Amino acid sequence: MCSVTWTRDAAGLHVFMNRDERRTRAPERPPRVFVRDGVSRIAPEDGEAGGTWIAVNEHGVVVALVNGYLREDLARTDEPRSRGLLVRDLAAGSSSDDVVRRLGATDLSAVRSFRLLVLHPDDRGSVATWDGRSLEIASDAEPFCPLLSSSHAASAVAAARLEAWNESVALHGRDPDALERYHAGHARGESAYSVCMHREDAETRSFVRVLVADTAASLTWSPGPPCRSRPGVRCSVQRVASP
Ligand SMILES: [Zn+2]
Repeated sequence: MCSVTWTRDAAGLHVFMNRDERRTRAPERPPRVFVRDGVSRIAPEDGEAGGTWIAVNEHGVVVALVNGYLREDLARTDEPRSRGLLVRDLAAGSSSDDVVRRLGATDLSAVRSFRLLVLHPDDRGSVATWDGRSLEIASDAEPFCPLLSSSHAASAVAAARLEAWNESVALHGRDPDALERYHAGHARGESAYSVCMHREDAETRSFVRVLVADTAASLTWSPGPPCRSRPGVRCSVQRVASP
């Protein structure tokens, strides 16, 4: 479904995300700033379930979710709770630890498998993995970069995208502009395997770039595959001191 990468430099924390979705899914809604649970945050919105896949808030916390696509998800017959609504709720967190705490207090029994990435400029972030039964928290997100998922031949897709990532990092390091080019790239041609994904039934539906700087956080959303990028919509919020 998605690819997420991140890096840090003098400007702040940069996060990039491609959202791969089926072509028949309703169009995404552009990002906006809104207040929920007393916290200003920026997020684009899914056109169907109303949740989101990435958000950044006034505390500088970034929350992003990729689906797990476990076979067990398909076998379940209960009504699933949207993973996108989970991101919306967790985006109230004031730090990586606070998001993890909120996640731990959430009833996930109706939620399908996922990986949730939490990042903040002042810590190494966390990755939470939910397999439908148990929640595992890794208190350092770095080993998970790039965070990848796909519903199509998952391991081969992840391997191709990881190979492209290793090539990019070997050539350019974790330079933010190189990461943006990685997200628009088709190392072996346009396909289900390329980071900028093109498939008959699905494609990269949007590209999001987040920057968390000292005084402000911004999110830029561009609809369509990033190789054919169209003008984006950018929103920003002033940072506030975390409680
Ligand atoms: Zn493309």
